[in-house]
Amino acid sequence: MSMFSLTGRRALVTGANTGIGLAIAIGLAEAGAEVICAGRRTCDETVGAITKAGGTASSVLVDFADPMAGQGLFDDQPIDLLINNAGIIRRADAVDFTEADWDAVMDVNLKALFFTTQAFAKAVLARGGTGAVVNIASLLSFQGGIRVPSYTASKHGVAGLTKLLANEWAAKGINVNAVAPGYIETNNTQALRNDPDRNQAILDRIPAGRWGQAEDIAGAAVYLCTPAARYVHGAVLNVDGGWLAR
Ligand code: NAP
Repeated sequence: MSMFSLTGRRALVTGANTGIGLAIAIGLAEAGAEVICAGRRTCDETVGAITKAGGTASSVLVDFADPMAGQGLFDDQPIDLLINNAGIIRRADAVDFTEADWDAVMDVNLKALFFTTQAFAKAVLARGGTGAVVNIASLLSFQGGIRVPSYTASKHGVAGLTKLLANEWAAKGINVNAVAPGYIETNNTQALRNDPDRNQAILDRIPAGRWGQAEDIAGAAVYLCTPAARYVHGAVLNVDGGWLAR
């Protein structure tokens, strides 16, 4: 099973206090990685769940409202795996969308992702190590969405950056890939589930016939960190209950 083992690897997951990030952190720990859970709020719940199950985890505070806030994350100890999961969404009609909502989303979802990944790669390359980056993209890396202009722009950007970084680093020992979740039951999508018409329209279009759970995303993210994915570079892996196949 060594193809699927992360024993001896140290991972950092952003936004690991809840939702998809929490599930990915637990999945990485189950595969044997030591996990650093990064959030703008404490990740005690995640760290507690991992340590209770016999894994190793710690917590670090970082707020990507400052897109350069991730710069110091890789200075103290070698980190092999970076999961860029932290993200926000702002909803308003395009004609009413504010500059503040544009900047807030682009800063967290795209600018912070890039500069955090840059800091990670500098550290890996400086020590002659190997590593993997998994970016959490979205269906809105491929589709337009409705009432979420900055989110759609940011997630298209995430897919593009995933490919650019893969091109630059594939030969240098860093795998860069993304997972594109479908409609997953988390805080991010609460507003959609609260709207009965949107909720039903979404459900009707998902071939799997249900919303996804955060745990449905974890396996794909873990896989992209393992030796099993060593020749996978620049991929955006859809985990969407079949949504994009339809
Ligand atoms: P979530 O429950 O809202 O989780 C988002 C995470 O990002 C939380 O941990 C959040 O912290 C963190 N975060 C937000 N702003 C931050 C900041 N300034 N600094 C540090 N951390 C920050 O939603 P989720 O669905 O799990 O989202 C995780 C990722 O999946 C996001 O990138 C999202 O765009 C993506 N995604 C989700 C879906 C879906 O259907 N749910 C679909 C496609 C893609 P707080 O808890 O403090 O807010």
